[in-house]
Formats: sequence, C-alpha cells, structure tokens
Amino acid sequence: MLKYAGIVINSNSIQLDRIFTYSIPEKFLDKIEIGMRVYVPFGLGNKKIDGFVIELYDEIDTSMSLKAISNIDYSFPVLRTEDIKLIDIMREKYLCTYMECIKTIFPSALFKGVKNKKENYLFVGEDLNNKFSKEPYVTIYDVVRKNNGKLTRSLLSNKFKLSLSSINTMIKHGFLISKEIVVNRYNDREYKAYTKKELNLKQKETIDFILNSDKINYLIHGITGSGKTEIYMNLVEEMINKNKECIILVPEIALTPQMVERFKGRFGKDITVFHSKLSDGEKYDEWLRVKKRNVKVAIGARSAIFLPFNNLGLIVIDEEHESSYKSDSDPKYNAREIAEMKSEFYNCKIVLGTATPSIETYYRCEKGEIQLITLEERADGAKLPDISVVDMREELLNNNKSIFSIELLKGMEEALSKKEQIILFLNRRGFSTFVSCRKCGYVFKCNQCDISLTYHFSEEYLLCHYCGSKQKVSKDCPKCGSKYVKYFGVGTEKIEQEVKKLFPGSRTLRMDFDTTRRKNSYEDIYNTFKNGKADILIGTQMIAKGLDFKNVTLVGVIAADLSLNLPDFRASERTFQLITQVSGRAGRGEKHGKVVVQTYNPDSYAIKYSTENNYNSFYNEEIKIRDLMNYPPYVELMLINLSSENEDILIKSIQNVGIILKNFFKNNDKIELLGPCPCEISRINNNFRWQIIIKGNLTNEEKKYVKERIYSSLKDVYNSIRVSIDANPLSLI
Ligand code: ADP
Ligand code: ZN
Ligand code: ZN
Repeated sequence: MLKYAGIVINSNSIQLDRIFTYSIPEKFLDKIEIGMRVYVPFGLGNKKIDGFVIELYDEIDTSMSLKAISNIDYSFPVLRTEDIKLIDIMREKYLCTYMECIKTIFPSALFKGVKNKKENYLFVGEDLNNKFSKEPYVTIYDVVRKNNGKLTRSLLSNKFKLSLSSINTMIKHGFLISKEIVVNRYNDREYKAYTKKELNLKQKETIDFILNSDKINYLIHGITGSGKTEIYMNLVEEMINKNKECIILVPEIALTPQMVERFKGRFGKDITVFHSKLSDGEKYDEWLRVKKRNVKVAIGARSAIFLPFNNLGLIVIDEEHESSYKSDSDPKYNAREIAEMKSEFYNCKIVLGTATPSIETYYRCEKGEIQLITLEERADGAKLPDISVVDMREELLNNNKSIFSIELLKGMEEALSKKEQIILFLNRRGFSTFVSCRKCGYVFKCNQCDISLTYHFSEEYLLCHYCGSKQKVSKDCPKCGSKYVKYFGVGTEKIEQEVKKLFPGSRTLRMDFDTTRRKNSYEDIYNTFKNGKADILIGTQMIAKGLDFKNVTLVGVIAADLSLNLPDFRASERTFQLITQVSGRAGRGEKHGKVVVQTYNPDSYAIKYSTENNYNSFYNEEIKIRDLMNYPPYVELMLINLSSENEDILIKSIQNVGIILKNFFKNNDKIELLGPCPCEISRINNNFRWQIIIKGNLTNEEKKYVKERIYSSLKDVYNSIRVSIDANPLSLI
C-alpha cells in the first residue's frame, strides 16, 4: 500500500515551490491517486490549503512525524500522467514553478470554482398521452414535446396566457416535468456547409507525404493563398477517420469568424474554439467537452495546446513565425515547444505553416530536424500583387513632406474612384523612438550590438538597450551632414486625420489596440469593411493576417522603417514578415492588387527581398548576421528582468545580480553578459524596469543555479521587486 504522498502546495510563493511529504490516512488509502487535488494542513497554524498529489511512495526515510492529508477534492479533474511529465519538462525549460504549470494546464475557471451552468426546462410527463384528449392540454403537450429541452415556464405562460400557478399544478400532477439541465455556454450554432475544394497536385502531394512519412515535424513554407488551410483541413479529416484528435493553433488575432466558419462549415459544430476572449464559463465548457471526449478537433490560440486530448494525431501551427505563440506571463512557454513535448507522448505529427518561416524554424529545416515542403503558387490561380518601394528620401527632395508618397496618393485616388478598397498599414510596435536622418536614411546604432539606439526624450541621449552604452544625439547627420536628424513618430490616428483631410468624402475605419478592446469589436470592424461600408481600413499588424477581402486592390505600408529599426535583433526578420503578410492582403479577388511600401531604407535586405518575394535570399543574409553577431539560433538568450516602483532599490538589486552572474561565469568565455541596463520600455505603470541578458548556451543545471542565486539575492527586497526570467525570450523590450 502506498502510504505517503508528495504534494505541491497551491501557493504563489517561490520558496514553497517543492514537493512536501504527507501521510495518507487509512480511509483514503484505496482512493488516493496521483494528480488528485487534496486539502492538507500547512504551516505553523495548520491552515487548510489545497494542493496536488505529484508522487506516491510506500516508504520514506525520515523519522520526522508527518502531517496527514485532510481531504480529497473528488470534484476537481485529475492531472494525468502525461500532464505531470509535461510539468517536469516545463519547469526545467522555463524555470517556472509547479503551480504555474498546473494553472496553465487547467483553465483558471476551475480554480475560481466555475461549474456547469444549469437551467430549468419543461418536459413531457410519461404516461399521460391518454389523459389528454381535449383542448388546451393537447396543444400544450404538443408544444412541450416539440420543444423538448428548450421550453421554460415563462415561455409557456406567455404562449398560452397560462398563469404560473396553473403550470405548477400541471407539474404537480406529473403532466409536465420540470428538470434542471446543463446548458452549453459554447457556441453551437450551425454553420453553412463548406464545399470541399478539388485539391491541386501540390496539395495532394503534400498531404500524401505528411501522412505516409514516419517523420514527426513538418514545415509547409507556402506563399499566402497557396492553399495551406485547405491542406490542414484534409489532414484533419484523415485523422478523424483514424479516430485521432487534432489541435489547430492560429494566432489569437487570426482566429477570425472567417476561420471558425471555414472549419465548422467543414467539420460540423462539434469543434472546440478556444481563445483568451472567451468568458470563464465558455472556457470551462469547451475544456470539458474535450475532457469528456465529445469533440475531436480544437481550433484556438496558444492556450489551446493544453486542451486535455488523449489521442492526439496532429497538431497544426499556422503562421508558425508569430510571436503570440509565446506566453508573456509565467510559465513563459512557447506553444510550438509544448507541441513538441506533447508529440513525444502521443507520437503525433506537427505541421507548421507560414509564408515567412521564423529564422529558427528554417534553420532547423536546414539541419534536417524538420521536413520542409514548399508551395510557390496561389491555389486559386490569383497573381501576387505588384509591389513598389518608394524611397521617402526622394519625396523629401521633391518637397513632399506629407506622410504619403505621391505614388501612394495617386493609388488611393484611383482605387477610391473605382470604388475599390484600400488598406493602410502602420507597423508600429511599442514606442518607436529611433533617430534617423530623413535625407540619407542613416540610423543611429550601437557598434557592439548592431541594434538601433533608442532616444530618451527627457535627457536627450541615445541608449542601447542590450548593453547599456550611451551616446549623445548629434544635430547633424554623421553620414551626410544634413540637419534633418529626427526621431520617428506617427500613429494610426494621425494617419486617419490625414486621410480625412485629403479625401474628405472617404469612409475610414481604424483597427488597432485602442479600437479592438471590446469583445466583438474586431468582428464588427471586420464585417463593416467586408460589407463595403468603408473604403479605407487603417491599422497596425492586426490587419496583416488572415483577412481575405476580395475588393482590396491597394495596400500601403506607411513606414516600413518602424519595425526595421526596433531595438531588437529580430527587427529585420519582423519587417520581412510584416511586409510579406500585409502584401498578401492585396488582390485576393479577380482584380489585380498593388502594394506601395514607403521607406527611408530601400536598400535594406529585409525590404528588398520581401518586396521581391524572395525568402531564401533573405534567410541567407539574415543567418550570416546571426552567426556573426552571435544571436539565436546560434546561441540561446536568457532575459532577466527586474521591476519596481523604487528605482534606487531596483538599481542596487540588479547590480547585485550582475555581480553574482559575472562571478559565476567568469571562467566561461562562451557566456556573454549584457547589462544591467534599463529596458527599452523603461517604465510601465510607474514601475521602473531593468534587465540583464545572458547570451550563450547554459545547461539545465546552470539555468537552475542562476535562478536560485537570483532569487536568494533578492530575498530581502521581495516585497518591492518583481522578477521575471525568460529562457529564450522573443521580445527584448
Ligand atoms: P493559405 O492558407 O495558404 O493562405 P488558403 O487555404 O486560405 O491558403 O487558400 C487560399 C484561397 O484559395 C482560398 O480562397 C481557398 O478557398 C482557395 N483554394 C485553396 N485550395 C484550392 C484549390 N485546390 N482549388 C481552388 N481554390 C483553392
Ligand atoms: Zn544623413
Ligand atoms: Zn549595445
């Protein structure tokens, strides 16, 4: 008999992130299982606290007397063996705690005590057919029968002008039965059936290859519109036929009504849709129907990777390059990595798809870890749009100081006159405060890190947010001597104002963080534009993906430089991705599309190759730089971020962490430490932020040591400092 249990306590404290041993009382000996939620006495006051059974033992070598488990929570789902394995891997990889993992694997609704939603409905009593031979009972009986499970007292009383008391009398005599039933909070609307496309040869080959090969990992590198989604759907169908389950991940903002419609239209309404904007109740119900094995397919954003499927055959990750697959709170997991961990358990296939593979993924294809499949043509035969690059330095020479180039203005006039639609795209992320010369395009960069320097308004200096080095801003351009040295700043609102000024009759729509905070606002804006009730859609990267508007013939990229000069070593990669994605929005229908990309850096390889649709040349350039500057995929990064309202304590603490790390790595010349220095966004909500970057490949033991040392050095300032450690961060701002 297993008499002892190793238990993880439900607490946020990092000091309690370990396994505590409890004894199992006699009455629970044959009931307790690994993964169960239990209640245990904890601490000096023996306060009852919940926790999870992670291990069971029949013997322990301690003479200490142990506390005993108080109770088992039978109503709570049990962590499965594979969940516990997953937790172990996640803890090592993401340096997170047991409870952070458990709270990620289970929807938070469970911890908040959300339960099934129940409502009262009226049903027909059983032996009553004969008793009702005359009106109005027959009709009532009939109505209830026809609406079985959907009729309430109030509806019935409204329909027949019956008082509630006579309905209650009918219930009392057993003519009607009132029953509490569980109502589903998920959307179970029927969708219009989706007609299957006749697959083209390339699509067929791809599907056959994936199904018949014994490899696990695939990348479909296919241009936008090459028919990837159609391929995913056929793979899903094959899996369903084999009685296997599938998860399809799409970036949160690409989980459009259009996407859901396509999948539900094809596979019926019994598909789970899972994303962060669902209410707790909706999440609970969707989660539960996976758990109860009522669905075989889920489509969702990154958290859908944790849905409790038991027999996974396929995980699809669409737009694999997207940074939204990485969680920004602990555990800072990447759904792509979790997919690989899960495929170890289920031996399921992983299919990544994108028009612009991340450098890391493509590098793995080159090393043979992922099978590459390339699709070079649009499935419906449509042509890719014409892309022209406008050099904004020349616009300035020609005395055009507006945010629109002459070419873009002309294009807009033409599209508006033909009643065609326009998308204006501003690739703004974070605060774009780089400084550049408007005449020659020169950008101030750090010599050591090859990263754009960030302008600090208050003290008027330039700072490298990787290594912390500072420079003064010169009034004249160091390259051409001009006086047009400026910091960059333009927002979507500003663009909308300009458009309204230039085209007073045009109808504009704005889609950005500010206008999409409400639950259905994205859908509303989307439908307004789709139904032709607006001419120009202005937006941030939100509009770059997934949207398929047949009447859009012109796309304008207002300032390609905004993403190009982000202080991030992935700036070129992001720019290539954004321009490619947004260009894919033009000319999706019969009409030919045109894209105008405005930039001060027309010669940058990211802009050049994206407008030429040449991923391979881009990759070859980029991977050389990664190698030369020692960035991923050649090394791993670890980001240590401290924040506090108290700047003095913060700086002292992070300097202390810096010293500890320097000492620890002093004999290791493969590890480079950058910082401590203020983060690119140096203050959020009155919290100052500083960071240290560790560049180099640490072993799991080293990572663990680093984490423990950091936490123990901050023991005395815990109350005023927040720590975040990110192994393999996607964003360094
Ligand atoms: P992607 O996911 O690569 O962007 P989609 O699967 O969305 O591409 O396909 C792009 C467009 O082409 C869609 O409108 C789709 O219905 C259509 N399409 C896909 N496959 C075929 C096919 N075999 N024949 C005709 N049209 C297709
Ligand atoms: Zn210059
Ligand atoms: Zn630097």
